[in-house]
Amino acid sequence: AQAHIDALEKARVLNAYLLETPDRALKMAEASDAKIAKGEAGPLEGLPLGIKDLFCTEGVTTTAGSKILENFEPHYESAVSANLWRDGAVMLGKLNLDEFAMGSSNETSAYGGVISPWRRTGSDVKIVPGGSSGGSAAAVAAHLCLGATATDTGGSIRQPAAFTGTVGIKPTYGRVSRWGTVAFASSLDQAGPIARTVRDCAILLGSMAGPDARDTTCVDLPVPDFEAAVSRGVKGLTIGIPKEYRVEGMPAEIQKLWDDGAAWLKDAGATIREISLPHTKLALPAYYIVAPAEASSNLARYDGVRYGLRVPGRDIAAMYENTRAAGFGREVKRRIMIGTYVLSAGYYDAYYVRAQKIRTLIKRDFEEAYAAGVDAILTPATPSSAFGVGEKASADPVEMYLNDVFTVTVNMAGLPGIAVPAGLDGQGLPLGLQLIGRPFDEETLFATAEVIE
Ligand code: GLN
Repeated sequence: AQAHIDALEKARVLNAYLLETPDRALKMAEASDAKIAKGEAGPLEGLPLGIKDLFCTEGVTTTAGSKILENFEPHYESAVSANLWRDGAVMLGKLNLDEFAMGSSNETSAYGGVISPWRRTGSDVKIVPGGSSGGSAAAVAAHLCLGATATDTGGSIRQPAAFTGTVGIKPTYGRVSRWGTVAFASSLDQAGPIARTVRDCAILLGSMAGPDARDTTCVDLPVPDFEAAVSRGVKGLTIGIPKEYRVEGMPAEIQKLWDDGAAWLKDAGATIREISLPHTKLALPAYYIVAPAEASSNLARYDGVRYGLRVPGRDIAAMYENTRAAGFGREVKRRIMIGTYVLSAGYYDAYYVRAQKIRTLIKRDFEEAYAAGVDAILTPATPSSAFGVGEKASADPVEMYLNDVFTVTVNMAGLPGIAVPAGLDGQGLPLGLQLIGRPFDEETLFATAEVIE
């Protein structure tokens, strides 16, 4: 813990941590020492972790990357972090993120962007770590924690993992409790770990996951021994390659990486089969209707009355307006407006209901592939390597949304997905592959990702 605390101080230029909690870390580490001495060590005893600042931590400021929660001190602990502390982990601090987890580059954080520890060969242009879990990914990549919590609504675990050469898994919807995690889009949100190896991810997910009656969508299933699954191998598995993911304009090096990934799995004993997921191209537009719709509903609670910031006004309506105008950033306001629009009378059927129907079709595509004997699906994690700070943020917002093309399908279908580092591009930046699994079969993902890693 002390070594990590020292490392954090030297790496503040990355802006990965919004809050460092060294005193708490040392106290927790001491308690761990005592447990180890007594032979009562938990599975994560003494391991220093970073917590994305979307997870409520009791008595420790939790901002969700937003000004509106600048001084919010929860009086309860999220289920995910509580599970980690139960197993002995040590909290180093709270990690930066896109505001309310809305973004793909960490540039929408009200507290400034995160800088990736990676650079293009021979260049000092600052690179984004991806988002929204940019702080988590940068901190793990820069050795500023052993692992981190993250959340994924449309790719926010897998895309930053791919951009930083780390491993990140979004478990099946319902595997991990959402209780005490600040909500973005409740039917898509799922927490998971980012870590430096597949095995570390398996160990962390084993602690984070589990039934929780406080989240009614959290399933009552036992948590498998994920770590044991890591070394299972891929012999006898059928891996699907969906032809619709061969999108126009995909860089040749990403296509090559994808082909290499398939070849490695084949060499290790898997059967590779081309498959079709015909509704893939509808996933991104449908996601950018469903996610803002749910966000507009979830974010209605930030009204200046119950949480964080309050900017007074002459009456209550003016107080709401002033609070939200000052408290929310541009991207969050854009999402609230889109969400409110697609849910409004007269547009609801044309947008929201259609997006929900598309969601069902996307889910069916996957169900058919799995019913036909496919065990996991291999795709690139992102359509490009990490971009430079400011390179996409200033452009049309749709340009940024397009980065999520390979990840949002997985959330729309509620499936597990893992991003695993698979190589470097011509500029020396990491590239990741994604594996998508059957519902509640994270074990096959760990086994398959381990072969690629
Ligand atoms: N980049 C996507 C978005 O902006 C996904 C974010 C996430 O998964 N939290 O909505």
